[in-house]
Parts: sequence; structure tokens; C-alpha cells
Amino acid sequence: DAFALDEVSENVVRTVKNCVFSVSQPGPLKGPLRVIAVSKEVLEEILDLNSSVSQTEEFVHYFSGGKLWPGSVPLAHRYGGHQFGIWAGQLGDGRAHLLGEYRNKNGERWELQLKGSGKTPYSRSGDGRAVVRSSVREFLCSEAMHFLGMPTSRAASLILSEEPVWRDQFYNGNVRKERGAVVLRLAPSWFRIGSLEILARAGELDVLEKLLNYVIEEHFPSITVSDPDKYLVFYSKVVNETAHLISQWMSVGFAHGVCNTDNFSLLSITIDYGPFGFMESYDPNYIPNTSDGEGRYSIGNQANSGSFNLEKLGEALRPLLSPKQQPMAERILKEYPSIYQRRFHELFKAKLGLLGKQEKDDYLIAFLLKLMEDTGADFTMTFRHLSEIPAPRLQERPLPQEMWALRDLATHEFFSEWVSIYLLRLNGQEDDSDADRQSRMKRVNPRYVLRNWMAESAIRKAEKNDFSEVQLLQQVLGLPFQEQEVAEGAGYAARPPGWAQSLRVSCSS
Ligand code: AMP
Ligand code: MG
Ligand code: MG
Repeated sequence: DAFALDEVSENVVRTVKNCVFSVSQPGPLKGPLRVIAVSKEVLEEILDLNSSVSQTEEFVHYFSGGKLWPGSVPLAHRYGGHQFGIWAGQLGDGRAHLLGEYRNKNGERWELQLKGSGKTPYSRSGDGRAVVRSSVREFLCSEAMHFLGMPTSRAASLILSEEPVWRDQFYNGNVRKERGAVVLRLAPSWFRIGSLEILARAGELDVLEKLLNYVIEEHFPSITVSDPDKYLVFYSKVVNETAHLISQWMSVGFAHGVCNTDNFSLLSITIDYGPFGFMESYDPNYIPNTSDGEGRYSIGNQANSGSFNLEKLGEALRPLLSPKQQPMAERILKEYPSIYQRRFHELFKAKLGLLGKQEKDDYLIAFLLKLMEDTGADFTMTFRHLSEIPAPRLQERPLPQEMWALRDLATHEFFSEWVSIYLLRLNGQEDDSDADRQSRMKRVNPRYVLRNWMAESAIRKAEKNDFSEVQLLQQVLGLPFQEQEVAEGAGYAARPPGWAQSLRVSCSS
């Protein structure tokens, strides 16, 4: 189904015209290769494989680009994008190869993609590789996000090679030898806003229309192909789902880090894990990426970034809309803030265990967030402790020793006032018990998220060939809502260690 294909099959870096994909062969990693981690669930439930295959010699080759499945025509996708607000022109898969689509026994379709698999026509000045640290982060986080209930790409495997990759780490001028790794990742589709933008900007309207029709037919089955307003319906669905996605990120304190249009999926799933971060101390100005000096992609600005990106999507669709439809697209975008607000409100109500609807609920949520902001209380654990504490004990002073995030919050002069309003609200809930409230809240407030210090600690060991902590994190983050002994032993729900404060992540990966 490669409807518009660049026939040159050499991986020569160049500007590509009039196509959506270029045939591009993965550059196999140099051995010895080593499987660091696999996702059993992805292998078994998405790829219909027995996870024991990951122990075979063949697995390493198929999952790192050394061997291709029969019929696979590896492709690099041509896309553009707005990076930090500015049109960046042609970007494309600079270090990723699409291997093809797999239809599994449940009838689901998944596109398989290698990341870190060598140069493509879109590599620009890059080497087409990914280092261990960024690959570990993508592997762990995309899977962790799935188990948190977030729409996301998945990761099947993480394979390490001894091939040296040179990186200027943390921009401090030191060039460091690292090792390359490949992640086999999956999504129903890897098309991005930038996939359409580049075609509209280049005036390749035939290809734009073909691609858009393909995306709608294949991935938006509820849209009628003959509907004259189908592009508007498509736009309104992407606007809706993007608002939902970002509100979900906010509900777990996830900051993507690089909300460029080339990193925003047309299916509104989380893709392209780079310098992301989970917020620890509650702070709307939290910026996970050290390269983002202005804080354009701070956690609190993500909803605005979504709006900017959707506006760019609207611009890409514009040449295909009639003069009458164009103002309608603008009206669709105007709905975005209220869709986002509504969804955010619902998710935070659930995080507080609130049932039904009361006028003051917004106030209760905003009041709590303000207390968290003033005290710098831990975002994840404040909600988790609220889920675990029997409601009447919220009035005890001091609060239970182990509830460290709540104890931080309780240093605020208005904490008791908030508790009074909260308890009044909970007591007014008919057909609810405190045990029900707690179990409801524990299902939406994770005890474990992939904090930067946890990833960093696992990466430091992985760089010394000890992969035990990568595997431990994978195991723990597979059940983020369930208290686990090994996780407690590792301090994953404890106050972050002092050194976590000074950790930084950048784009250089
Ligand atoms: P990202 O910031 O990871 O979304 O990447 C933006 C663009 O740079 C995409 O086109 C990537 O494929 C490309 N890119 C990032 N790292 C590399 C690399 N090491 N080699 C080639 N291209 C890269
Ligand atoms: Mg396809
Ligand atoms: Mg990207």
C-alpha cells in the first residue's frame, strides 16, 4: 500500500519530492548483539508469538534489522514539521525503518518500526543511530504509559550492540563513546501532523489528498468515505482526541518534552519518546528538556502546544477544503479549549474519587493544585496517598508517617480548610463507602511512574551490562496501580533521592 513511493533505494540523504515513503534498507547493528528486554505482552498479544522466541538466535536479527520478514519492504517515511514554533521543512524518519504492517489474530493492524536502525534519506546530519540511554527510556516509558492507560505506541524489544555511537552528552563539550541500540516499536499508524504538513507546504495536493483519504479509510472507520464533509469530520476527531490525550498526560504528570508537529500523531497516541519526564514536585512550569530554555513545552503549556499543532493541521487540510468549509474548520478548533477543560475536570474528579457533579468541584480541584504548587508536594504520591488514607484520618495531625507527600502538603496553612471541603463533598456521596472510594482512586492514581532518577539509575547499570534494573522497572511499571514489595524495596514510592534533583535530560540521544 505504498501509494507514493520514492524509488531510489539507496540511503542517500537528500530532499525528497512527491512521495510519502522512500524504500530504505536498515543498517544492521554490529555485533555482538544482546536482547536486553522484551515485552511479553506485545509479543504474545499483539504479534501472536510465544515470548520464548526471544531466546532464539533468529529473534535478535529479525528484531534489530539484520534480517527481514518475507515480503517486508522497509520504508522511511517523509514528513516535515514545526519545531519549537518554526517550520523546519523536511524531517522524516532519520533513524527509523517501517518494516510493514501486521494483522494479528484479533484483527488489529499494527505497523512495525525499528528505531536506531541506521541512515535513511531523511537522516540529515544524523548518524541514524540511537544510544542505549534513549532506547531504554523509550522502551520503558512507552510500555509504562500503556499500563497507565495512556494511548501510546508500544515497544516489543530492546536490543543492544557493541557498535560505538558518538554523542556530545549534555552539551558540555565532551564527546562520549556510547553503544547503539534498536527498539522495535509498534503503532496502529505512525503518521503525524507533519506527514500532511509537508505535502501541503510543497503544493503536492494530489499526494496530500491520497494520503489523507488513506488515513481516513484505514484508521477512521466511522467516517463515511463519500461524505463531502469528511475532512472536517476527520479534523474534529483529531481535535477531540488530541485534547483527550493531553488531558490524560496531565492526569499522570507526564511532560512529553518535544511537542513539535512532527511528534504529534494523527491518531492522537503518544509517540516519539525523547526528553520526556514525569513531574515530581507539582509545578506547572516543569520543563523536562534542558534544551527547551524558554519552557515552550513545559508541562503546563502542553494544552496550548496541542492547540498550536492542531492549528497547523488545519492549515495543512486547508487546500482540500472548500471556501465554505474553511471557516468551519476554524470553528472546530475553537472548541478545543472547552473539550480539554471538560476532560481534564473529569479526570481530576476521578483522581479525587468524586462521584456525580457539583458546582464547587472545579474549586476543590484548583484549590488542591494550588496547595501542591505552594508546597511543592509530590504530584504522583499526593494523589496516591489520598487514595490510600481512610478519609477521617485526613484530620489527624501529624498525618501517618509513611504518607510523606501528604505530610508535605499539610504544611500549608490552608490544608485543613481544603480537607474540610473535601470530606464534606465525600460524605455527601450516596451509595458510596470509604473503601469503595479508596479502591476507585487506587485504580486511577498510580503508585509508580517512571521518574527520571529511576530511569537514570537503571541506565547507569545497563551501561555496565547489568540489565537487572531495566527489567525490574519493566516489571513494576506493568502494574503501576498495585503496591509491590520489590518496588517498595527499591524506593520507587519513596521520597526521591537527593541526587534526583540535579538530573537533566536533553535531546542529544
Ligand atoms: P526527534 O527530535 O527525535 O523527534 O527528531 C527530529 C528529527 O531528527 C526526525 O526527523 C528524526 O528522525 C531526526 N533524528 C533524530 N536523531 C537522529 C539521528 N541520530 N540520526 C538521524 N536522524 C535523527
Ligand atoms: Mg500501512
Ligand atoms: Mg520525532
